[in-house]
Amino acid sequence: MPLKYKNIIDQMTLEEKASLMSGKNFWETQEIERLNVPSIFLADGPHGIRKQIAAADHLGLNESRKATCFPTASALASSWNVDLVNKVGIALGKEARYQDVNVLLGPGMNTKRNVLCGRNFEYFSEDPYLAGNIAGNIVKGIQESGVSACLKHFACNSQELRRMNVDSVMDERALRELYLTNFEIAVKVGKPNCIMSSYNLVNGDYTNQNMHLSNILRNEWGYKGVMVTDWGGEDDRVKGLLAGNELEMPTNAGDTNRDILRAIESGELDVKVLDTAVDRLLDLVFKTQKDPNKDYSIDLDAHNQLATEAAEESIVLLENDGVLPLNKEDKVCVIGKFAENTRYQGAGSSNVNSYKVDKMLDILPTYGLNYVGYEPGFKLNGKPNKSLLKKAVKLANTSDTVILMLGLDELSEAEGIDRASMKIPQNQIDLFNAIKETGKKIVVCLCTGSAVELPFASDTNALVHYHLCGQAAVDALLNVISGKVNPSGKLSESYPIKYEDSASSNYFHKKTNTAEYRDSIYVGYRYYDKVGMEVRYPFGYGKSYTTFEYSDLTISEDGIKFNVKNTGSVEGKEVAEMYVSLPESKVFRAVKELKGFVKVNLKPGEAREVTIPFDEFTFRFFNVKSNKWEVEGGKYLIQVGSSSRDISLESSIEKAGNMQEVPYDAEKIPSYYSGNVADVNDEEFKEVLGRDIPNGDITFKNKRKTRIVVDAYTTVEQLRYAPGWTGRAFAGVIRFVAWLLPKIGQGKNANTIIMGVYHQPLRGISRFSSGAVHWEQLNGLIIMFNGKFFKGLHTFFSEGRRLKKERKAKEKLAESK
Ligand code: BGC
Repeated sequence: MPLKYKNIIDQMTLEEKASLMSGKNFWETQEIERLNVPSIFLADGPHGIRKQIAAADHLGLNESRKATCFPTASALASSWNVDLVNKVGIALGKEARYQDVNVLLGPGMNTKRNVLCGRNFEYFSEDPYLAGNIAGNIVKGIQESGVSACLKHFACNSQELRRMNVDSVMDERALRELYLTNFEIAVKVGKPNCIMSSYNLVNGDYTNQNMHLSNILRNEWGYKGVMVTDWGGEDDRVKGLLAGNELEMPTNAGDTNRDILRAIESGELDVKVLDTAVDRLLDLVFKTQKDPNKDYSIDLDAHNQLATEAAEESIVLLENDGVLPLNKEDKVCVIGKFAENTRYQGAGSSNVNSYKVDKMLDILPTYGLNYVGYEPGFKLNGKPNKSLLKKAVKLANTSDTVILMLGLDELSEAEGIDRASMKIPQNQIDLFNAIKETGKKIVVCLCTGSAVELPFASDTNALVHYHLCGQAAVDALLNVISGKVNPSGKLSESYPIKYEDSASSNYFHKKTNTAEYRDSIYVGYRYYDKVGMEVRYPFGYGKSYTTFEYSDLTISEDGIKFNVKNTGSVEGKEVAEMYVSLPESKVFRAVKELKGFVKVNLKPGEAREVTIPFDEFTFRFFNVKSNKWEVEGGKYLIQVGSSSRDISLESSIEKAGNMQEVPYDAEKIPSYYSGNVADVNDEEFKEVLGRDIPNGDITFKNKRKTRIVVDAYTTVEQLRYAPGWTGRAFAGVIRFVAWLLPKIGQGKNANTIIMGVYHQPLRGISRFSSGAVHWEQLNGLIIMFNGKFFKGLHTFFSEGRRLKKERKAKEKLAESK
């Protein structure tokens, strides 16, 4: 490919080229003034702009400029409305532009494999088709203003535990069908100019230097944009460049520039590779510049209105015996601490400084309800409190209906830390049970960014899931329960009855450095439906205040047509879902897979014919033998319905197919053919993996398993096994502080330590330090942790001095030119 910016690149020195490959500081890229190459600003994302004012961090700690906080991804995906999320994208793009942000670090779109992943609130779905289409339409919207979106985290990052060190080990089919198809759709629909690699490894190599992922992205999908590392995620800079990773963020104060120059000198890296990377980066830089003739002012009130609409459409009505919409005559009270400060977003780098947040108790009186009072009922820290419970019951007794606000607190849903359990705190369940005994009607309003166990669900009169719905969360919630708005959200993930029901629960959070995806393609409903397991709520499920009827399904080679009719008495929106399956398949498969959806608004009595086209994803599967996407011949069942377990229409279509060879020997992998993958043995996993299962155990150097050899990949937690006392002491202090802080009410800080330090590999300490600990100095620390204290100390300081000298000499040389 000829270089687009050849004229500029030809004028650059090698040093200048290398310097562009990593950040100038925490958020900006390097500029080259003499060649008029400006720097650009990258900011989080994803559901609002987090442009930091002064101190920079990737943990959501320091303040950022005010911005509109839209619903987080798990909520937005529950709207199943691609036009609406596109509008949200447009608003995000405009705010980014307004704040002089060139690249918005979102949307986040990893496949939700396990309900406990701490960042599930930032991700869309367990289903790649839904996630890909929602993400793609947000990207399209963001990029309308000329800023770039940045899909993240590419790929297979389904846990936060040891996120910078864990190797996701999975078979090629699961990789392609479950963990990459979402990105593929988003790339094809949204055409993002930037993608962020994830922190983890996939099948043995860090994602930013993973040639296999790079080939799929660049050669198969034709992606031409920039790949940026997740912050501090760079491992081997040269390998990264070879795999098409243009930009390393944040700055490393020149450490990896030196690596690049050394590699060019030794011939390890062809300068052409560097030139291509520079060319792509320049394209991003110039593409995302402001047009001086355009007006980039924004209308925050209009964005608040859009945030409200997005939240309304994301809310999912899980139960309703007719108590909702609320009767204006009934005496209504509110119980639950969340009513005081409703959670509306999760913790971590996505944290937005919202420009406007309404409080439930302030705006409730404007809804014309017969409101009789509020009681917190429980403490957010989960500790039982009899007096709060008593007062709540007393208040409940004076009312007809209790609006009970339950959910997870912000410490439970944070980047960098997976949830410890799928339960909501017992003190909230105790409160529910106590109120149930009063015999009053209970409307539970649930605020969580991810799936929770809901043992009390069928005892509620109504259950409204309002996720983490952004700054307009409570407005939207009140609009729904008061009947101003008819709910139309559907779950974008399955809600199992209990955590242990999920296919990956046995494999999640092992002590090893590998995360084994033995569950393969059986994620979410693909598993529950295959083994016929009862769930609390199925994927794609959600109620409305009206009813819909489906009829007249017809199929052609291009897609399906059918009618949806609103058979109730209020206007409402329905999400119609299309599932595809091949019952007689010779390949192991899910019972059904989502391959299309449409959301329609219908007046009472109105009927509409709707169309869902087939596309390149409808019938394909990834054949691991031929290493190609193929279509197996046979009679495909097409099902249409209102959830994955509420199918109204079905028909079939015959496909000739092009499968060359059945890729599996069914007898060798019975668990995969039956779908019973919760406890797959080594032989079967090995067979599906197509190679030996890598050993992820920590390597001890003594029989008693108390000592390891520390290297750049050892995490601070693992330093407890360091041969040197410094390492053990360091790990011990961090562990102690993380244990102590929650006890003295500093849970948030404990989370930060766990996320920022405890599970951090030593290489991360250098990569994140913006030059405070150079890579060469890290070696000194490693020597120290391995037991050679003085030698380590000497290396640390002498390397520091050497680098300083080198820098000064260069500066002098530059000045003299
Ligand atoms: C997160 C990214 C985020 C980046 C910058 C990382 O720790 O994983 O999602 O964009 O920090 O804040």
